[in-house]
Amino acid sequence: MRLRFAPSPTGFLHIGNARTAILNHLIAKKHGATMVLRVEDTDMERSSRESEESILRDLKWLGIEWKEGPDVGGDFGPYRQSERFDIYREYSEKLLAEGKAYHCYCTQQELDDMRKASPETGSYEYSGRCRNLSDAEKKKFESEGRKPTIRFRVPDGETVAFDDGIKGRVVFQAENIGGDFIIVRSDGVPVYNYIVVIDDTLMNISHVIRGEDHLSNTPKQILIARALGLPVPEYAHLALVMGDDRKKLSKRHGITSVDMYRREGYLPEALLNYLAMLGWAAEGGEEILPVDQIVAQIEIGKLAKSAAVFDFQKLRWMNGNYIRSRSLGDIIALLVPYIKEAGFDTSGVDRAWLESVIALMRGYCEVLGDIGGLIGMIMADVNEPDEESDALMRQEHAVQIIREAHRLFGSEITAENFASELINKIKQVTGQKGKNLFHPVRALLTGRLKGPELDQALPLIGFERCRKRVEYAYGKYCN
Ligand code: GLU
Repeated sequence: MRLRFAPSPTGFLHIGNARTAILNHLIAKKHGATMVLRVEDTDMERSSRESEESILRDLKWLGIEWKEGPDVGGDFGPYRQSERFDIYREYSEKLLAEGKAYHCYCTQQELDDMRKASPETGSYEYSGRCRNLSDAEKKKFESEGRKPTIRFRVPDGETVAFDDGIKGRVVFQAENIGGDFIIVRSDGVPVYNYIVVIDDTLMNISHVIRGEDHLSNTPKQILIARALGLPVPEYAHLALVMGDDRKKLSKRHGITSVDMYRREGYLPEALLNYLAMLGWAAEGGEEILPVDQIVAQIEIGKLAKSAAVFDFQKLRWMNGNYIRSRSLGDIIALLVPYIKEAGFDTSGVDRAWLESVIALMRGYCEVLGDIGGLIGMIMADVNEPDEESDALMRQEHAVQIIREAHRLFGSEITAENFASELINKIKQVTGQKGKNLFHPVRALLTGRLKGPELDQALPLIGFERCRKRVEYAYGKYCN
């Protein structure tokens, strides 16, 4: 079994394509199949090496492995389509010689005119004007300096049927394909639908697992394979990924590049787990499932037939779970850059203290980047109260609590056990209890109403910072 992932390097790795790569990877792992990475870079204007590099980097980050590809070589290379033009030329010459393809001299202008003149209803189809040109006609066009394209002669009345591993039996009539289609452009660059067939054959690909957006290309590809006498692989077309409005997932719905997910602090194992579930469901209904268990259960035939809706909230939730289950050492290394970015230096701090801080605070992070907005609660000298804390501290009972805390810090309490002492004494003096006690104290000492339990947070914030925070609040709310 040989599978492939075939990205076009025309931009970043899109989350939908990442899902295709992941499902190929998981199926390959399951069956011990060889995974091939092929770069489909024939769109010369839009393709770039930077894009290729970023796609490979993101695939590796996701944990996707390939045995053959442009970076590692292999027996069936080259693995970039732009390096295979000689191969494609041989096949187009064969098709031309056998009359299965022909030169078309129509100019873009003429094609546009034909398109305009075609009836509004139904889709436009190439008229076949150049299908049967005589040698004299060809010479005449050439003498006018026209550069021909090569068109595939779609056989009349043929039916294309195949058993898709996901969709089941799929049947197309050749006459609905849209007429003879171009396989080589006038500048000599061959087109995707044509070369994908040659590459899949020459690279011995047994199974093509790809997005459903390619389902309508499949009959063209099968017709070309037939014309060339090549075998066709097994196909499996993955149902699309959609936004919550049931339209194809795009930037409008949220972030779509794998690179952005990494930067916001998603973990690769969370993204892999989520994307695998977006197109497949575990038998026991589990949503959080480590990769080896997904591999144990997944099958091509069990992949979803209908479109999946991308749920950004669920992915965040899942990522939070993975943040909690990674080793503390890993998470510290992953979080420190975000903590630095938020303006806190961790280089000189006590390691045991930092470990305790992260052990506590990671429980509140759904993405690593969340730490940036949370860490000030512990590490800032004064954590500027957010809006709700600010509003609360302006209330009378809170002002009374701040005054009392200020008095206590100035006289009675010591660094030892300050947290419990402080709360008990405030309670005695002010008579406040329950949320009327704890919310103002929390706002006062952390600047937030949500977050870790005070008895866990305060020892980490420490006496000195708490004293400064009380001082600050006293100045702000008690005058
Ligand atoms: N290069 C194509 C794409 O990025 C993939 C084609 C295929 O899988 O057959 O959509």
